[in-house]
Amino acid sequence: MGTVFEQRLRGLPVSPGIAIGNLRVEARDCSAPLIHPITEEELPGEWKRFEAALVRTEEELAALKQRVEAVSGATEAAIFDAHLLFLRDSTIIGKLKQELPLRMQNIESVYYAVVQNFMEVMRTVDDPYLRSRVMDIRDVLQRVLRNMQSGGEVRRVLPPVEPRCILAAYELTPGDTAELDRKNVLGFVTETGSAMSHTAILARSLGLPAVVAVPRLVMDSRTGSPAILDGYEGLLIINPTEETQERYLSLRAEREKAYRELVEMRELPAVTTDGHRVHLAANVEFAHEFESIRRSGAEGVGLYRTEFFLLGTGESMPDEEEQYKHYRRLVEECSPEEVIFRTLDAGGDKLPFEPSSEREDNPALGWRGIRVSLSRAEIFKQQLRAVLRASAHGKAGVMFPMVSGVTEVRRTLKLLDECREELRARGQAYNEKMRVGVMIEVPSAAMVADVLARYVDFFSIGTNDLTQYTIAVDRVNHRVAPIFRVTHPGVVRLMARTIEAGIPTTICGEMGGDLNMLPLLVGLGATEISVGTHLLPVVRVAIRHLNYEECKSMAQHALQAEDSMTIRSLSRSMALKSYPDLF
Ligand code: PEP
Ligand code: MG
Repeated sequence: MGTVFEQRLRGLPVSPGIAIGNLRVEARDCSAPLIHPITEEELPGEWKRFEAALVRTEEELAALKQRVEAVSGATEAAIFDAHLLFLRDSTIIGKLKQELPLRMQNIESVYYAVVQNFMEVMRTVDDPYLRSRVMDIRDVLQRVLRNMQSGGEVRRVLPPVEPRCILAAYELTPGDTAELDRKNVLGFVTETGSAMSHTAILARSLGLPAVVAVPRLVMDSRTGSPAILDGYEGLLIINPTEETQERYLSLRAEREKAYRELVEMRELPAVTTDGHRVHLAANVEFAHEFESIRRSGAEGVGLYRTEFFLLGTGESMPDEEEQYKHYRRLVEECSPEEVIFRTLDAGGDKLPFEPSSEREDNPALGWRGIRVSLSRAEIFKQQLRAVLRASAHGKAGVMFPMVSGVTEVRRTLKLLDECREELRARGQAYNEKMRVGVMIEVPSAAMVADVLARYVDFFSIGTNDLTQYTIAVDRVNHRVAPIFRVTHPGVVRLMARTIEAGIPTTICGEMGGDLNMLPLLVGLGATEISVGTHLLPVVRVAIRHLNYEECKSMAQHALQAEDSMTIRSLSRSMALKSYPDLF
């Protein structure tokens, strides 16, 4: 074996921490297969399977071409000639012949990696026509893979992993992430993804270092290579030298010490230097996090994303009784602080409500959030009754995701009233004064915040979706991640408009955990900030270094600014001046 060199791959840091272990590579995307090793004897069989899939794909494409020709004419049908040519492309097949005996993995995973690499090259060519062919290639790739899988087993979950590994995957869905074997996976890195995706949010709440959007990750990494994942800087270091390893071991020790010191200050309130108090709560996704709420010093839970509890197991949804017990446990754990239960937010880029529900062309604009709940009123009411019953055992509140206007709020409040009546009839206790809120994450809701404020007790601004919908930038698409700007003046003005409606307003999106953004959020007048438990200690100390009057006047300037960079640098400058040591 030749000399092994240290290799550094750069991506987007989405969850802090340092993982040191061996790589485990998973080369699938939504339709791509999992990797498994093969033996010498299995090689001919692999080629046979591949050849059979090519033949099936050829037949499929020829039939498609005929259909299109009959309906639209020969010119339109000719696009499938390019598909057919690519299917037997000698460069691809040649590369596959070269790579398969080197990698000794199932042929579809090698084919996938080879074609991905080819597409990457195509994306960089100057000729726009050739660039636009990437979609055709992807189409062929998916057809071949599907035709290979349909004969065999299609596994949904990730296979078991070796102890102490760093998972390197083309893509991880929120479902994959929730199911990760946490004993053995030290961190993960993906080729796709963005900071606002649910996968990234889950990594943070699982406390797993994570880096996303690493170009050529799957092509450049090999299972078993020693590696370091730096979730602070967004780096994957493959085959680190001894010197690099030592540096990272001491860096990790230093970071952990600094974090412990911040946690020790958990009893101190989040109050600015001029006496302005900000309520600080936790965002929670999983039951195992319940214990860390108190340890982080959170003043209750500002956002409990109930979808992972309701849909995350892959089994049938817990009924009212099970939900009640689970919610009650959390409420009692946090008492006397309040727990805000966000009702099921299914669909979009999250877990689907029904696995077999029909495919949507625009899931982000489709059947998700409160729309799902309102169209499944009986299931929705089970959750509402469970939360109401839990409210008798401490302090609970409820809020609704993806509300776009007052009609949904009226319909929801009516269902909530029906639930109260049903509980009264059953003789079951609940808190009459349980607070009710609405998430502000759709621009239309922010625009009518003054109207909504007449109906509910509080708002909670979901900056992840509010940004996505205001500037029409998909929060999970890594290609547009650089223009996902939470400080876009359009977003900041909608936030200000929401807060001006005059009812208590929490910031529960990821923006609340960004040290650069805290001066702006405090200055706009957010009454509460809710962030992942691991971020809470640093957010608390940061707020204690801010001056409220200065933040307010900076926020007024920000509201006059023309672009996102100006707003960002106004807030960041104040953050750097106020707590330089926390970065
Ligand atoms: C948000 O959209 O900002 C939010 C907090 O909700 P989620 O990330 O769960 O969509
Ligand atoms: Mg949201």
